[in-house]
Amino acid sequence: MTAIVWLRRALREYDNTALVRATQDHDEVVILYVVDTTYFSETELGSPRVSFWHDAVSSLKSQLEEQGKQLTIRQGDPVTVVPEVARAIDADAVYVNHDYTPYAQQRDEAVAGALDCPFNSFQDIVLHEKDEILTNKETPYQIFTYYHKKWRKREKSRPVEPAEYETVPADPEPLPDLDTLGFENHTYWDGSREAGRERLMAFMDAIENYDEGRDYPAREETATISPHLKFGTLSPREVYWESERMRGRLDDETGIDTWQQQLAWRDFYMQLLWHYPRMTDEPFQEQYSSIEWHWDEQHKEHWKAFCAGQTGYPFVDAGMRQLKETGWMHNRLRMVVTSFAAKDLHIDWRRLHTHFKRHFVDAEVALMIGGIQWAYSNGTDAQPYFRVFNPWTQGERYDPDGTFIREWVPELQAVPDEHIHTPHEMPKTVQQQVGCVIGKDYPAPIVEHSEEREIAIELFENARDDGDD
Ligand SMILES: Cc1cc2nc3c(=O)[nH]c(=O)nc-3n(C[C@H](O)[C@H](O)[C@H](O)COP(=O)(O)OP(=O)(O)OC[C@H]3O[C@@H](n4cnc5c(N)ncnc54)[C@H](O)[C@@H]3O)c2cc1C
Repeated sequence: MTAIVWLRRALREYDNTALVRATQDHDEVVILYVVDTTYFSETELGSPRVSFWHDAVSSLKSQLEEQGKQLTIRQGDPVTVVPEVARAIDADAVYVNHDYTPYAQQRDEAVAGALDCPFNSFQDIVLHEKDEILTNKETPYQIFTYYHKKWRKREKSRPVEPAEYETVPADPEPLPDLDTLGFENHTYWDGSREAGRERLMAFMDAIENYDEGRDYPAREETATISPHLKFGTLSPREVYWESERMRGRLDDETGIDTWQQQLAWRDFYMQLLWHYPRMTDEPFQEQYSSIEWHWDEQHKEHWKAFCAGQTGYPFVDAGMRQLKETGWMHNRLRMVVTSFAAKDLHIDWRRLHTHFKRHFVDAEVALMIGGIQWAYSNGTDAQPYFRVFNPWTQGERYDPDGTFIREWVPELQAVPDEHIHTPHEMPKTVQQQVGCVIGKDYPAPIVEHSEEREIAIELFENARDDGDD
């Protein structure tokens, strides 16, 4: 009897729960990957993400082939293709890993309904399942601190290898190349599992510095594995247990605890989206859905400048340019630029979400929405609306000597340290001397932070007053 293991985002053989469970009951499996080409034309996707995905699928295919196994790639709508393959090979069952996005939930329901055999779905992409960590009243947690308290104490599953198995092919088709799908090869990221392992192990050697260094983008002291977790070239259990292995080897283990806390944030946002799918279109705090974000001609110009990294706020521009170039942005910058879009530009958060979807190599709906609504002060457990990040002081604090700014905004390269965060305050003579004339080589600030901050607070207070009526 043969089972189908339908892979979607756990693009690895190691510790892949659907594969592990299928091989416990079956000697023969079809490892199926369905490329839904309409998805590529209809969804907000960008080359970094698609290119990473392409690497991940093709390297998994090669890795299986090296062991004499096969990845069956098929093209089409999974709702048609998966049942078609299941009937063609008279499959005993289809095995998948749970997925948490509203899109994936609908797709899986449709596929399960069209099958003549069982559809077995397993927890895999998070450390703790959506209903595993609930309040004493059995409701989902909305406050991270309480969620984390329980999360920390729960036992974590260990990675598992699949049992011995053979694969059978099911009329495989080639993997379409990036060109055919309408995307470019983005060489900044290598989406293979080997590349993910390399990043993970290099980070483990430096995890001791994480607690202190993680907020300073120039130090590069985070793991940079988010796209590998997104596409499942690394498993969440694998990364958690690699960090656990470091215990007892370090003088100070705070870095391990803080890093594991980030994995808890990931689970927290995943379970939130599962329980509150409306968050993709609506703010979690409904009282703020009446805010009319700005979109007149001037704000359209500001938005353009923001996306291009030309706001005249060096730290913000450095983050937006890092994103444009690499498809990735450091977490501190994600918070700073999102806050800037909200509180300095008053741009609708959904517009920013669309932009991030197009550009992020690691675009993960639950985490994007969680992060965006946190900085927009309209999410669960969000930054209070009256605590507005100052984009200048954020830069001064987290990039004190301007190393990160100089890396991504090369026109500020020669600006002296005392002006690196506020180049518009450089005397004209200094501007000439260092070859950075404000308004010509680099823009003056497109908005005045203190004024925009007041406007933002008013937007929130008006929405709160409306809610009280
Ligand atoms: C506005 C905004 C949007 C974001 N969008 C995404 C997104 O689309 N995809 C994504 O993977 N992350 C997103 N994040 C979370 C975070 O910025 C990235 O996960 C992190 O920068 C990835 O880098 P790293 O792998 O070096 O993380 P590390 O600091 O090494 O952390 C390890 C892992 O923990 C998880 N993690 C870390 N920080 C967070 C966080 N704040 N919330 C939830 N999980 C976290 C990630 O899976 C990350 O890979 C967003 C944050 C904000 C503020």
